[in-house]
Amino acid sequence: MSAEHCVIIGNGPAANEAALTLRKKAPDLKVTMIGRELVRYYRPHLLPDYIAGKIPDHDLYVNPMNFYHDHDIYLRLGQQAAGIDFDRREVLLDHKERVRFDSLIVAVGGKPRIPEPLVPFAHLMLTLKTMADARKWMEKLPRVDSVLIVGGDLTSLAVTKSLISMGKRVSFILCSEAFWPLRMNEEIRREAATRLLEYGVEVLSCRAITRITRIDDHRVEVETDSGGFRPGLVGAFYGLMPDVQFLARSGLDIERGILVDEYLRTRVADVYAAGDCAQVYHPGLKDYWVSIGHANATYLGRIAALNLLGGRVAAEVAPTSIFRVDGINANVSWWLEF
Ligand SMILES: Cc1cc2nc3c(=O)[nH]c(=O)nc-3n(C[C@H](O)[C@H](O)[C@H](O)COP(=O)(O)OP(=O)(O)OC[C@H]3O[C@@H](n4cnc5c(N)ncnc54)[C@H](O)[C@@H]3O)c2cc1C
Repeated sequence: MSAEHCVIIGNGPAANEAALTLRKKAPDLKVTMIGRELVRYYRPHLLPDYIAGKIPDHDLYVNPMNFYHDHDIYLRLGQQAAGIDFDRREVLLDHKERVRFDSLIVAVGGKPRIPEPLVPFAHLMLTLKTMADARKWMEKLPRVDSVLIVGGDLTSLAVTKSLISMGKRVSFILCSEAFWPLRMNEEIRREAATRLLEYGVEVLSCRAITRITRIDDHRVEVETDSGGFRPGLVGAFYGLMPDVQFLARSGLDIERGILVDEYLRTRVADVYAAGDCAQVYHPGLKDYWVSIGHANATYLGRIAALNLLGGRVAAEVAPTSIFRVDGINANVSWWLEF
């Protein structure tokens, strides 16, 4: 009889921790990881330093090239899951191949959130989630002197620091959505503005961006309710949201992320979700929470793997570390400092 096959969709912290846990605890299990990016597992929190040229490519990668081969994990890169057929227990890849599984862990993480009114201008703004995003910044930055940061989630502070270290002029629109998922209040606003000013950042206040247009290769025009700006580039930082639309008609319960119980089980037998794409039930709160951050992602990846192998480990999160913002319960594990 052939070995049981576990497929993991994703190649971030949650997926890698799950794969390694499965390999350690179940040496005979066949493990396949499917990642849509062509590059191997890297540290996303180093991308701001990477775009500033402070670290070489190889420092971004977590594992050496031969790691997956040595651990008997079949890594498929540059392959995107486009859906899941739970009746046939197959992952559908965008190039039409089907990959059969006995058990499955979905660990597809998040994608940059762009607020609805700004979607028409998304093509004129840069985000920073993936290595491909980083390369776009690296291609464009040498041609511009100034960058406008809009939104301003936790990542944006690291990006701002990197841009300043490169000698760029940085302006920052501190709007009510800044620092999502933290709720912006007057105290946070004051503190952030003081810190940004200390770093030499121009802090702008406005309630709404009404239009963004390209002027030429070196400038865009940003119109707001309190005036216009002409930066070289616009960086949009409105937090990450689970990247799960491809599962919309799969039969999984999806709200903001994939709904799972405290053992990270979805409604389908032997199918789990972990990391930033999961929305995890908390029996104490009688509600779901979304995970944001590297430490949470690895923790959940490990739990999903242990439970898939027959364990009964609950994701234990103190209710006090979960806070509510914009109607969402968020649990943030974040180590960034500014
Ligand atoms: C610039 C930046 C700075 C950050 N700084 C910090 C920090 O200081 N501290 C902190 O705690 N966190 C930080 N984070 C957040 C942290 O990196 C994430 O919370 C963490 O990576 C989540 O892990 P994950 O495995 O759930 O998802 P991800 O890391 O998002 O990984 C998801 C994986 O799934 C793959 N994937 C997605 N969809 C598909 C599909 N359909 N088919 C196949 N593969 C797919 C993706 O390519 C990726 O490999 C930062 C993130 C960024 C982008």
